[in-house]
Amino acid sequence: MTNQTIKPFLRCCPICSNDEGEVLHTQSFSLPNEHPLPISYDVVACSKCGFVFADSSGHQKDYDLFYKDFSKYEYSKMEGEGLINDNKKLERTADDISSFIEDKSANILDVGCAEGDLLLKLKNRGYNNLNGLDPSSSCISYINNEHKIDAHVGGLFENLTSVFNKKEFDFVILTHVFEHIYDLSTAIQNIYSVLKDDGILYLEVPDASRYLEYYIVPFYYFDIEHINHFDEHSLTNLTSMNGFERISIEKKEFNVSEQNLYPAVYGLFRKVDKKNSLKICPNFGCKKQIKEYIKKSQKSNVFPEIDSLVDSNEEIVVWGAGSYTTRLLENTDLGKCNIIAFVDSDPHKQGSEIKNIKIYPPSILKKCSKLIVISSAIYSNDITKQIKKMGLKNDIIIIKGL
Ligand SMILES: [Zn+2]
Repeated sequence: MTNQTIKPFLRCCPICSNDEGEVLHTQSFSLPNEHPLPISYDVVACSKCGFVFADSSGHQKDYDLFYKDFSKYEYSKMEGEGLINDNKKLERTADDISSFIEDKSANILDVGCAEGDLLLKLKNRGYNNLNGLDPSSSCISYINNEHKIDAHVGGLFENLTSVFNKKEFDFVILTHVFEHIYDLSTAIQNIYSVLKDDGILYLEVPDASRYLEYYIVPFYYFDIEHINHFDEHSLTNLTSMNGFERISIEKKEFNVSEQNLYPAVYGLFRKVDKKNSLKICPNFGCKKQIKEYIKKSQKSNVFPEIDSLVDSNEEIVVWGAGSYTTRLLENTDLGKCNIIAFVDSDPHKQGSEIKNIKIYPPSILKKCSKLIVISSAIYSNDITKQIKKMGLKNDIIIIKGL
């Protein structure tokens, strides 16, 4: 290959610890002020094992801070479509898990359990020895009080043996957690330490080998939070390096909106003696897929509606201060538009500023007649409905691109 850029990593490969690889893409974001995470990173592929990840200049402590202060998972107050789709996704996961665990009294731990929705679905399927772990104390008290499920405040980087008072688990569940973790090997070692011998680990993550197949908007899958891009091979490599043997691995899809499916890969892995840990099997298939995905994103990163807004210089309010907007502000001319305010339903975002422009709750629009520009990868339908429900008469434009 002639145009490969090999560089030394800022963050060693989280699977094999190799320190160099190929740069596939550089992703930038316009982040709210005081945001703990870096404003850009390279998407890289490890030259040794093939794993694709964000070569972030941040560290685990920065990500811990981000999830503590900026997390959208705490009391997400998801509405409409988002809630229905999230519910369906968790029903499927609960079915997948319960088809594997016959013993209803098995000791089960859900790590990163948020408000306990998955645990509740397992409880409804008859499991009676359920435990949760989440860094958010308000989520944990909600689970303890509302769902009567034993849950503890904590994260993957604490001494889990003492958090759970030396309790060991038959089954540990991590759904859509590992794509967020900076230090994967410490995380999986900590899980190893609270599993019983022969205990089972259930891991579910986005399937990066199918980003292209489930294309949504340009660079959708490169957000500030998802810093590991797994496929079936890298998920297997991570676990086999750390004392687990693969039982099964499968793929699935779920709706993130009415129109959009999202690809996931999930596997069951049995804890074995670490002496039996296997070597990694390098695989570069995912890197190839992600390169194609990047090509398509680059080609589609064209937004005529943004160009018109720049030309007209009309004062606008941008509804949506999430990943889509933070990417558009850097990768398109959205930042050149005459934005007077951002609006977002997420209370964690309200009050912050992006590019010195404040983020307000949607209620501010009741006394504002400016053009509303909807900027959201998957929730534009929900936002349009909310605007109607609020009785707003403002003109609306949705940023869709070509
Ligand atoms: Zn590697």
